Amino acid sequence: MTHYSIVLLPGDGIGPEVVREARLTLEALAPRFDLDFSFDTHLMGGCAIDEHGNSLPDSTLLACQCVDAVLLGAVGGPKWDNPHAADRPERGLLALRKGLNLFANLRPVKLFPELIGASALKEEVLAGVDLLVIRELTGGAYFGPRQEAGASGEEAYDTMLYTRPEIERVVRVAAVAALQRRRKLASVDKANVLASSRLWRRVAVEVLKDYPDLEVEHVLVDAMAMHLIRRPASFDVIVAENLFGDILTDEAAMLAGSMGMLPSASLGDVMNTHGLPLGLYEPIHGSAPDIAGKGIANPLATILSTAMLLRHSLGQEAAAQAVEDAVARALAAGYRTRDIAGFDAPEKHVEVVSTEAMGAIVRGFLTEATA
Ligand code: NAD
Repeated sequence: MTHYSIVLLPGDGIGPEVVREARLTLEALAPRFDLDFSFDTHLMGGCAIDEHGNSLPDSTLLACQCVDAVLLGAVGGPKWDNPHAADRPERGLLALRKGLNLFANLRPVKLFPELIGASALKEEVLAGVDLLVIRELTGGAYFGPRQEAGASGEEAYDTMLYTRPEIERVVRVAAVAALQRRRKLASVDKANVLASSRLWRRVAVEVLKDYPDLEVEHVLVDAMAMHLIRRPASFDVIVAENLFGDILTDEAAMLAGSMGMLPSASLGDVMNTHGLPLGLYEPIHGSAPDIAGKGIANPLATILSTAMLLRHSLGQEAAAQAVEDAVARALAAGYRTRDIAGFDAPEKHVEVVSTEAMGAIVRGFLTEATA
């Protein structure tokens, strides 16, 4: 039996509701795959500001640095929205990414056939969409030198600063991911205008010579924004710097129609006790304060985040696939949370279920499939 230690950061809003189902999912599959998990729950985000006056208490960061993987729900909400507050929930998230040196954010976008109607795009455009967008997470304009307001108060700037090693390491993550998939990689930049993008292009071209089996294209970010809507199925892995990646990942998420379905992983160069990246796993959605506490949140994005955790930080590919299969079977059987209901053909039998019921249904398929 292999032992894994995991920190849970339920966070705010619906975070605790969806993280509970994710934890139960891991516990349900443990005996079947001969795994043993220990879970340690810590505060981060708004709840940590309330309790400790700090969105990322030292004890939380330390706990995260000492485990095999971290699973996060979501942080934030109207209670902590004051832009002039000394601390905000999102600061905790940025500090956690920095503290774990998580420089690559992976967002797969795979469409479940049952939910194709939830997307604003036409079915024929969406057919075959299976993307992985990799966003550089600790560089660029979000971390470069900035000035909020000049002497006049009417001037501000941010600096999109990149170094060769920052570009090289994330492009290598993308190249390795593409080799494990359909061997296609699109590197995004704005090399016709931005100096940092010209460096990005130059380093990407050099690094990708080490991966001759890949089919590589370099795409300007404005063109990529268009291609993602026009021919999303033609892409496999896409890699982009922080700001471009932030925008493109949200655009790509909309292909899937619902925020409640998409997982993410953030990886860096800190290795866990198993020699694999110590990653942070979380759904892409926020804390959804409008539905918190109502028992209607969709837990599937967080459950699918456990599949990414099993794959990338624990090296348990079979268990990861079992989770993904169980989710697919729950959808195929007609179970929906409220956010993904109403998109099926009228003849399809659909049952709208609660957060807890959806978790239990996935666990039912998971234990049945692996028995
Ligand atoms: P949101 O993702 O929380 O919600 C957007 C809409 O999608 C809402 O109508 C919500 O009810 C719905 N939704 C989201 N997740 C859902 C789920 N699992 N099941 C069913 N419906 C779901 O985005 P927002 O409203 O812009 O932000 C709310 C708060 O979350 C803000 O404080 C924001 O800063 C924070 N936020 C946090 C993260 C994070 O923790 N990584 C990410 C984005 C937003």
